[in-house]
Amino acid sequence: MQRVPQSLVLNFDYSPIAVCSIYKAFVLVYLGKAELLEAIPGRKIRTIRKHYPCPSVIRLKHYVQIPYRVVPLNRLNIYKRDGYRCCYCGSTKDLTIDHVIPKSLGGKTTWENVVTACKRCNTRKKNRTPEQAGMQLRQKPYKPNFLYFYFDIRSPRKEWRPYLFLTEEKEQV
Ligand SMILES: [Zn+2]
Repeated sequence: MQRVPQSLVLNFDYSPIAVCSIYKAFVLVYLGKAELLEAIPGRKIRTIRKHYPCPSVIRLKHYVQIPYRVVPLNRLNIYKRDGYRCCYCGSTKDLTIDHVIPKSLGGKTTWENVVTACKRCNTRKKNRTPEQAGMQLRQKPYKPNFLYFYFDIRSPRKEWRPYLFLTEEKEQV
């Protein structure tokens, strides 16, 4: 399926706040509400009279107050963060939530301490830490970034990287 290329929208202070279609970004620039920071190389938006650069990164000309947005910590969001896979064996079946440091050992219910685990791994791990159980996490649990979580930035454009502070390695994930 051909997706419309997307533009990264930065607030006046250069913080990334949204992702939108290149057409919406173009309109914002055209109306003078945003400035074009990066164009998509080799691509133009054509109107009858002119060709315009195709926006890849735009910056709003006025600061927009964004309410502090966090990703709610709940079962479905934990599954989503972990790609609907067990963080120990990678299975996609019988998923449940595991506290990395068990509650009985003082582990908290936080993004950094909960992972998706299949029932088998969860049973095997019992009330132990991964080290105690001899199990290894495929990735360290983290607090997801709002922008990534809701705008589904799976393949950020090359021009976005400096604004998202992405390294080359991150792109491979
Ligand atoms: Zn498992």
